[in-house]
Amino acid sequence: AAERQTGYSRDELITMNIEKDISVQDSEELSYNEWDKKLTNNEVVTSIEKKRKKDGSEYWTEVVVTPIEYKGKKAGLSINHDITERKLLEAQLRQSQKMEAVGQLAGGVAHDFNNLLTVINGYCDLLAMRDLPPEIANPVAQIHNAGKRAARLTSQLLAFSRKQIIQPKLLNLNSLISDYMKMLGRLLGENIEIDTKLQSDLELIKADPGQIEQIIMNIAINASDAMPFGGRLTIETANTVFNRQDIKNLPGARAGRFVMLSISDTGVGMDKATQNHIFEPFFTTKGRDKGTGLGLATVYGIIKQNNGFIYVESALQKGSSFRVYLPCVKTRQSESPENERNNNKLMGTETILLVEDEEEVREVAKSTLAQYGYAVICASNGTEAVRIYKKNRSAIDLLLTDVVMPQMNGPQLAREIKKSDPQIKVLYFSGYTDSHISRHGVLNEDAEFIQKPFSHIELAKKLRKVLDGK
Ligand code: ADP
Ligand code: MG
Repeated sequence: AAERQTGYSRDELITMNIEKDISVQDSEELSYNEWDKKLTNNEVVTSIEKKRKKDGSEYWTEVVVTPIEYKGKKAGLSINHDITERKLLEAQLRQSQKMEAVGQLAGGVAHDFNNLLTVINGYCDLLAMRDLPPEIANPVAQIHNAGKRAARLTSQLLAFSRKQIIQPKLLNLNSLISDYMKMLGRLLGENIEIDTKLQSDLELIKADPGQIEQIIMNIAINASDAMPFGGRLTIETANTVFNRQDIKNLPGARAGRFVMLSISDTGVGMDKATQNHIFEPFFTTKGRDKGTGLGLATVYGIIKQNNGFIYVESALQKGSSFRVYLPCVKTRQSESPENERNNNKLMGTETILLVEDEEEVREVAKSTLAQYGYAVICASNGTEAVRIYKKNRSAIDLLLTDVVMPQMNGPQLAREIKKSDPQIKVLYFSGYTDSHISRHGVLNEDAEFIQKPFSHIELAKKLRKVLDGK
């Protein structure tokens, strides 16, 4: 058994010393002196030990030594059970529990910040529409810029905590990448060469295109940071099938059919210790003003939300390679590109029932709607909204409602109103969706929604889209 476990032959083992030649230092073990003492007292000794095989690879054993008499002398019978796989699973579990806990925290903070930012950015939008003297217009623009940056940060946190509302569509990753090429080129600068190896006949995936863009951009920006003197970025796609055997060495993987997206660079690379932390939020090796440590945390959250997985391979000075696997969908339906809307036709005359529990958010949304010509009736909760609706049924053209509200949430409210008017048009807005509304933060696929904090243009466009029934 020892030959099998260690890879050494019987003859080799007989000349060796376990403590010196096979055990590896950081074992959680007693010193061998103490072992002897315990055994002499007829005590059973147990320990978990890390050992090294003949081929240099390390493994973990659970050791139980029972005192016995052997040829008239005290000795120990040692049973060594290889528990390497269990150790690996433990580490994975710890890692995922940590990510889960940090995600909860990040999601909660981001949600509250989103409401505040909706107010700040909303009033900035409204002020910007006025004819302000430059000494006021400039500071307002600065506040607005800061507010928008903060909104990007909270949206990254939401993505990490998987609380971002997503609207998945059937996508061909290749065409998405081709669309981004120009932007990527500009982002990475001239001294980075971009190579693509896109598999023809790539299977479709179902994902939110904005999220896929976040994945590609975050990984690409890191790659460009890792190649300050230039280099090459390679983007590859491929159809991949994992069977039960394949996934043994891929933590977190499932068997099935996937689309692989790999993004590799020829940059500075990472050692193993760094690789162990890169997906944690706020982990960064970059300077204070450079890194937020949220890029890869965002990527990780998005991929989990889409039931995929991600792996990294890297070595110092050898570049890095990120491989993302997203489950593919079977139907080979061609995707329908979203029609870009005409910007001049954003005004409206319709009446909107606005439901939002936070007063400040409600007020700024109301002012924004009024700017675009809409008549607005406000309600601060679902019950009030139902009452108002019943009184003004014929006047109301659209229900604009927050998703997460105490007591009656947005979807419940919409269902209530649809009982008497199945045709009512509904637009949801939210900073995130709660898990009890929908397990993975996905609103019903055909539900229209807008993510908080939104700009007035986004809101106006979306309203026209919903009201015009496109
Ligand atoms: P940030 O870029 O703000 O530091 P990220 O989450 O995007 O945060 O990345 C975390 C860390 O992972 C980086 O600080 C860097 O140390 C490491 N890293 C990520 N991508 C690469 C890469 N392509 N090459 C080398 N190091 C990388
Ligand atoms: Mg980054």
